[in-house]
Order: sequence, then structure tokens, then C-alpha cells
Amino acid sequence: MRLVLATRNPHKQREFSRLLHQHELEPLPERFQLPPETGATFAENALAKARAAAAHTGALAVADDSGIEAQALGGGPGVLSARYAGAGATDAENLAKLLYKAPAGSRLTYVCAVAFVDPVTGAEQLFQGTCFGRLADRPRGGGGFGYDPAFMPDEGEGGETMAEMSPERKDAISHRGSAIRQLAAWLEDRAR
Ligand code: IMP
Repeated sequence: MRLVLATRNPHKQREFSRLLHQHELEPLPERFQLPPETGATFAENALAKARAAAAHTGALAVADDSGIEAQALGGGPGVLSARYAGAGATDAENLAKLLYKAPAGSRLTYVCAVAFVDPVTGAEQLFQGTCFGRLADRPRGGGGFGYDPAFMPDEGEGGETMAEMSPERKDAISHRGSAIRQLAAWLEDRAR
């Protein structure tokens, strides 16, 4: 199936390509601008991106909105994860702020909402994946992206961070892996 992937994040693009290898993923047209992430939930933001991409291209569209929730911060930064250290903040700046604000060992949850939109039938579908873990005392590992160097998944071994895992291992346990596998199974059913 041909799907437009409504993200400009190269890390997310790589994860989607690995997890949806049975489908043909198309990039967004260059001039197209994704809508601002003004929703109160990951699902709202993912749906807004998928709707906009589907309306613009006329093709089936898939989008992701994701982030990290820290128990010590009342669930923050949540939907503001990409802008935690300010508008235009880098991954490293956001990560440094999280390590400063939340204590090592405190509970974290990664959340990923994936939205699917068919512009012809108007069908919309949402999938959500979570991954539970704890905050490391310092960044470790060169893999993944974003908060991965400080995220120690409960399913990891010996306190390894998401950035110390192979891409395949991250896919197997991550919030995005879970949401995309649900999407893949649903697409398979839909095609029958
Ligand atoms: P958005 O979905 O474009 O709003 O951005 C999500 C933000 O959450 C990114 O900037 C990352 O910092 C963070 N994030 C989402 N998923 C992951 C992940 O798999 N690993 C690390 N950070 C993530």
C-alpha cells in the first residue's frame, strides 16, 4: 500500500521504514507545511498532521505525534517534548533540561500516537503505544534520538538506555514500535 508519511523527522522516518517495510512510504511534498502542534493530546496532533497531509496529497496518510511523560513533572513535558527547552530547542537541550528537572531513577513513559487518514472515504484511525522506563543519571549510548540516551526501558537489561540498544531491539519494545505494529495489523485486515 502507498502511504504518505507526514513527518520531517529523519529518525521517525527510519523507524517507520523499518516497521512498515511491507508498504511504500512516500515523503511529504517539499513545499507542504505541517500544521502547528496545538493539540492537548498526542492523538489530536497526530490526526491533525495526517489530515493535512491527506488533504494536500489526496493520498492515504500516516502521521505520528510522540513524547515523554515524567512522573516527577506531573506528566510533563508530554505534548511539549519537542519544545521542552524552548521553541527550536535541540534534542540535546531538551534532554539536558529533563536530566536537570527530574531525579535519576524517576518514572518515565514514552507515548506515541499514530494516525491514519483516507482522504477519499474519510476513514480515520488512531493507534497508541507506550513504553515504560526510568530516567538515567546521565546520557548513555549513541543510538536512537531525542530522550533515548536517558531513557532506561523497564524491558531493558542492566539499566541500558534506549540509545544503547540496537534499532531492532528499540523497535521491539518502543512506543512507536507498538503503535506502528497495531497500524500494520489493521492495514492488513483492511486490505482483505
Ligand atoms: P513531535 O512528535 O514531533 O512533537 O516530537 C516528539 C519529541 O518527543 C521529539 O522531539 C523527541 O524529543 C521526543 N521523542 C518522541 N519519540 C521519541 C523516541 O522514540 N526517542 C526519543 N525521543 C522521542
